[in-house]
Amino acid sequence: MSHQFVDQILRLFDETAERVGLDLRVREVLRNSKRILEFGIPIVRDDGSVSVFHGYRVQHNDVLGPYKGGIRFSPSVDMYEVQGLAMLMTWKTSLLRLPFGGAKGGIAVDPSALSERELEQLARGYVDAAYPVIGPEKDIPAPDLGTNPQIMAWMMDQFSRLNGYATPAAFTGKPVALGGVKARLVSTGYGGSVLLRAFMNGGMNGVRVAVQGFGNVGSNAAKYLSRFGANVVAISDATGGIYAPDGIAIEEELEYQRGESRKNFSESPASLTERSDRSGNIAIVTNEELLELDVDVLVPAAIEDVITSENAGRVKAKIVLELANAPTTAEADAILANRGIAVLPDVLANAGGVVGSYFEWVQNLERLAWQEKQFLERLEKGMEGALADVLDAAERYDTDLRRASYAVALERLNDAVIARGFM
Ligand code: NAD
Repeated sequence: MSHQFVDQILRLFDETAERVGLDLRVREVLRNSKRILEFGIPIVRDDGSVSVFHGYRVQHNDVLGPYKGGIRFSPSVDMYEVQGLAMLMTWKTSLLRLPFGGAKGGIAVDPSALSERELEQLARGYVDAAYPVIGPEKDIPAPDLGTNPQIMAWMMDQFSRLNGYATPAAFTGKPVALGGVKARLVSTGYGGSVLLRAFMNGGMNGVRVAVQGFGNVGSNAAKYLSRFGANVVAISDATGGIYAPDGIAIEEELEYQRGESRKNFSESPASLTERSDRSGNIAIVTNEELLELDVDVLVPAAIEDVITSENAGRVKAKIVLELANAPTTAEADAILANRGIAVLPDVLANAGGVVGSYFEWVQNLERLAWQEKQFLERLEKGMEGALADVLDAAERYDTDLRRASYAVALERLNDAVIARGFM
């Protein structure tokens, strides 16, 4: 990723700052990150050699509360990517009225190229390096692209060892056995699904959906959207995808993916017959083709910059639900807007993750457990409330949903920064 990613976010920030009349002093504060950390993490490989991986933690702004943001393990991670994503977190927590600031972290690594032992060492090494600046009252990381509850468990354990006592509230997205919450593990996909349902005024029956990415976010979105009556016709992973015009049997697919015989989508020929038995006619598609399928809703739920000026003109969906962070470039965004395609932007659409993390953190701090029903109802309320705020701002400022989301977030941050005195 390049500085263009940060520039793109700053351009939108500047434009919104003008729109909402953001105090000039507040602009200066929010254009910059409060702390940027880069570190080398050495691990001993299984063959005895040593590799050093580059880790990052960017704490963008904590005016609203302790920093919050995921840690991603991905080959593309660099300072710019993490900085841009940390800014998005500040807007997101403000938009959702959460008492958190914005941060993000990552390691430049392909986690699938490491053994489990190497991965554990890397996760623990990250915590050793970031320890002085993270913790339940300072900065609470969570899973993101390429990380999962097991990695959060190793990190929480390492933090607790350094801290001298068990500190579950230091990380969210943990396994249930360690104070994690089952509903947090589905909260990004669930939050996006209830948001879309509210945006479509509940009318989801038969709506055709293509989902790019079948990890934590994409698979849960596919699950809940199909439970809400939508017809998920395409799904994919990093290797490619499958398209079933009559709809994919998502629950069975999830079961299959959990099984020993699971195959990547690109290896589907071997499993096509099995899948066809469940879902009817199935074709293999590339990730590029998936974006251009004849569907009502497109859900990018994998990586950034997949909808570009090159392919935006060929997107057939009428709604894009951005569950990945930054899947649409600025140029593509303008093309989609011109074509009348509604984009539910990342800062709103995938905010279910940080809302769920907030609920997990609160339960860990209070040392009590909510009922799952209560968790999901509160999450749904939070997403619907944010949507109402964004639709209201879109009308007030006569703008699209991304700009309206930024406007709501910045209006709140403006008051908070001024009240605290430009720290
Ligand atoms: P994950 O690692 O669980 O899953 C990622 C999925 O994307 C996998 O299916 C992977 O195979 C696929 N993928 C990877 N590279 C790809 C490529 N080049 N093309 C197509 N597919 C590819 O990650 P996740 O937690 O589901 O995160 C996905 C996105 O959602 C990221 O942008 C992340 O920042 C965002 N997000 C995640 C959360 C969360 O709670 N996990 C919250 C908010 C936003």
